[in-house]
Amino acid sequence: MATFKAIVIDKADKEQSVSLAEFDEGNLMDGDVTVAIHWSTVNYKDGLAITGRAPVVRRFPMIPGIDFTGEVESSSNPEWHPGDRVILNGWGLGETHLGAYAEKARVKGQWLVRLPEGMTPREAMAVGTAGYTAMLSVMALERHGLKPDSGPVVVTGAAGGVGSVAVTLLSKLGYQVIASTGRPNEAAYLKELGAIDVIDRAELAGAPKALSKERWAGGIDSIGSTTLANVLSMTKYGGAVAACGLAGGMDLPSSVAPFILRAVSLLGIDSVQCPQKLRQEAWRRLDSDLDRGKLEAMTTQIGLSDVIETAASILEGRVRGRIVVKVR
Ligand code: NDP
Repeated sequence: MATFKAIVIDKADKEQSVSLAEFDEGNLMDGDVTVAIHWSTVNYKDGLAITGRAPVVRRFPMIPGIDFTGEVESSSNPEWHPGDRVILNGWGLGETHLGAYAEKARVKGQWLVRLPEGMTPREAMAVGTAGYTAMLSVMALERHGLKPDSGPVVVTGAAGGVGSVAVTLLSKLGYQVIASTGRPNEAAYLKELGAIDVIDRAELAGAPKALSKERWAGGIDSIGSTTLANVLSMTKYGGAVAACGLAGGMDLPSSVAPFILRAVSLLGIDSVQCPQKLRQEAWRRLDSDLDRGKLEAMTTQIGLSDVIETAASILEGRVRGRIVVKVR
């Protein structure tokens, strides 16, 4: 039986183990499209899955990795043909379905998005789930009616993956971006991506007041918890905040004051079950609106054998920007 290289998570006696191994092709799960994976990436959720710090993986053995780009090898789905270049983000990949840190995957054709014409497979994974989530967040703010002349926007966790892409996108679209980070030494990096101002995340870490001085018309938050509560309390009348992450915690110690006294909206962002039409639009927008030079500047490349170590680093907030994984 043919095998391929993969990172495999297993569990015995409640102990999780992870290793780079040869995986038996016969053990691939059901699906109508088989893909040769070329590139993947490391997102925060991949860190949680590989370290076992949160119950992301819900089947063992599991190949982790929530997104990939690759080329269709074979397909019984009329939509896809050998040689098609595809992207997959989410849909349970690396959680309930064997995932992206492997040379091969068998998936459902309905999960796939065509690689945009103007984007290389490596660029698409430099974007990855983190960047596509940043785009979904920008689109949600736009649907709310936010415009560059509404006022400044704040991006929290700015030196991380979602944050770096969000800063880059918003500044290209003409917004005045305030970047919040716990890494003041990354201020120059964030300004290169387009931030007009960089603030210390400690400013958003204190006990949140019901309402504070209005500082921004909107924001993209990947931190949750106290940070999101503070961001909401500082959002201007009629503004909106897209909440997409929990790097600081799952809770939200807020009050209804920003909603009922300032008509602030909290917009929820999910990339995993996001409908196909919205995904395609997000990738089209990423193709047209994301500065490729800045994308390259925020990206570090690693190999499959470096992924396990990098998983721990991303949870410790030691990864700057985005990481691409060269799978083949
Ligand atoms: P990264 O690790 O790349 O970025 C997270 C950033 O958050 C860090 O770089 C750091 O930024 C900041 N941070 C980390 N820990 C803390 C803390 N305890 N308190 C305050 N700030 C902190 O992760 P990603 O960008 O890949 O993901 C960010 C979040 O978004 C994660 O929670 C992830 O699960 C979520 N996410 C959600 C998705 C969805 O579908 N809703 C999809 C993708 C991601 P700095 O150093 O600048 O302060």
